[in-house]
Amino acid sequence: MGSDRTAAEVFRLLSDDIRLDILRAVARGQHDNLETGVANLSFSDIYEQVDVDNTSKLSYHLGELTGTFLRKHESGYAFTHAGEQMVRFILAENYRPPGAVGGIETAGRCLHCGEPALRAAVEDQYFVIRCAECSHPALSYRVTPAQVRSRQGSELIDAIAWDQAGDFLKVRQGVCPDCTGRMETDVFSTDDVAMHGSIPVAFGTVSECEECLRFLSLPLPLTVAYHPASVAFHWEHGINVIGTGLWEFHDYLYDDRWTSERVDTDPDTYLVEFNHDTASLRLYLDGEATVTRTERVRRPGR
Ligand SMILES: [Zn+2]
Ligand SMILES: [Zn+2]
Repeated sequence: MGSDRTAAEVFRLLSDDIRLDILRAVARGQHDNLETGVANLSFSDIYEQVDVDNTSKLSYHLGELTGTFLRKHESGYAFTHAGEQMVRFILAENYRPPGAVGGIETAGRCLHCGEPALRAAVEDQYFVIRCAECSHPALSYRVTPAQVRSRQGSELIDAIAWDQAGDFLKVRQGVCPDCTGRMETDVFSTDDVAMHGSIPVAFGTVSECEECLRFLSLPLPLTVAYHPASVAFHWEHGINVIGTGLWEFHDYLYDDRWTSERVDTDPDTYLVEFNHDTASLRLYLDGEATVTRTERVRRPGR
């Protein structure tokens, strides 16, 4: 049951208040039973919580949801992967537009004009960090109503930074953060693509998911900033890479603390260097931005 349904049929299943109430009831039931670890909600428990005329009607609706959004066990009903995703989306009301947010000052530098004048806001339902001097966007990222409802100011900015960090850690391992399909990454030269203005980055990466078409493009040093060797190196120098918004690292691209270059073409080999006062970390990467070797170097005369 359910396996041959088309996308349109699957969404039609949800266009019914009783069925949505069933999904909410199963989620609440699981939540209330956290201590006992019971992940299933029995037919009679669902019947108690959902406003439905009689048991045969409930049976019918449960039958429709089972296979696509619910799994039926001897002891009751639990979510499928699709049901799990859908019910969280519904409960958090993430189908609504996010609330208005405007003009939060944030650290970092504009990659186009170099001014440290970045401001964060929700613009046109997206989280946008824009330069107050030249008005170029430094970042545009999805933001949900749930994110905006529970935080404001720098807390909201931190939440976006962590959301991004989670996505990027997965992308680095070839896992799509949205559908968990396979992601492929390629290195490109910024000379080969039309960029707005002159940005201080020689190479970038583009990562793409063939399943759901999610993509991500980053300057090469930012792509490998979350490598364990980089996380440790920066932590030792007082910088928590993972908890920092990527736009804050634009400073490092400007003052050459973070650099990228191609050191070989047969096969393509790239070098990203992270520099600090007394030490440097070098990461050698292949054409898919996979780190093949790392080395630490002392910076003489410093
Ligand atoms: Zn600017
Ligand atoms: Zn995907």
